Amino acid sequence: GGALAFRDVHFHYPSRPDQAVLAGVDFEVAPGQRIALVGPSGAGKSTVFSLILGYYRPEQGQVLFDGRDAASLDLHALRKGIAVVPQEVMLFGGTILENIEYGKPGASRQEIIEAAKQANAHAFIEEREQGYETVVGPRGVKLSGGQRQRIAIARAILADPRVLLLDEATSALDAESERLVNEALERLMVGRTSLVIAHRLSTVRTADRILVLNQGKLVEQGSHDELMAHG
Ligand code: ADP
Ligand code: ADP
Repeated sequence: GGALAFRDVHFHYPSRPDQAVLAGVDFEVAPGQRIALVGPSGAGKSTVFSLILGYYRPEQGQVLFDGRDAASLDLHALRKGIAVVPQEVMLFGGTILENIEYGKPGASRQEIIEAAKQANAHAFIEEREQGYETVVGPRGVKLSGGQRQRIAIARAILADPRVLLLDEATSALDAESERLVNEALERLMVGRTSLVIAHRLSTVRTADRILVLNQGKLVEQGSHDELMAHG
């Protein structure tokens, strides 16, 4: 078995019993593999993440971690092994360093700074009074989308998860910001199992495998070359 697998997963949201959001989804991710999840809006990509995180349970089929049914695992322990980098990074009202520390409560300042460096978030923290006085939020500093993503990546690096769920930003970053984010993501993904809702062609190209979801069904899966060969 893989690090993570869906076995014939069926799901609908409780509020909409007549709408099958996932209709028999099967896939397996080997440890350390990098998977790109693609498909149109409404296909069920975010729902796949919600089921992995245990926010909902499948009504039929199983979500498996290391071959074990997630339903039999401790949710808290399970979530500790998973880091999420969402499309829109939410920061709370605190310093940037506190926002990064959230990935590992009680981490030392040195650990937090190291994670920030790995995530290419160090330079702008230094600029802003070493992240101490810098309060994020309505009355604090405004950060760019790319900077917010790098804070989320630093948070994930600190959390040191086995599994990474990443929803790529759809809004375009400028070239330099994209380079810094990509470099940070590379460092985060090394040696981890990752599932990425991909909005960029470069992510699809570099994935070990691509899952194409449409109307709650996996309509194709394979490497970039395999999918291109099929047209
Ligand atoms: P994607 O991430 O591929 O855009 P989603 O997983 O967000 O797709 O959504 C799949 C379907 O489930 C859509 O039809 C969406 O409207 C519906 N949906 C998503 N979240 C909810 C929810 N909390 N309650 C009811 N329906 C939802
Ligand atoms: P305000 O009311 O001053 O605009 P909010 O916190 O309500 O501040 O945020 C409004 C928008 O700005 C939201 O989209 C939020 O995600 C974003 N935002 C909030 N704080 C920051 C920040 N420090 N840097 C960048 N964007 C932020």
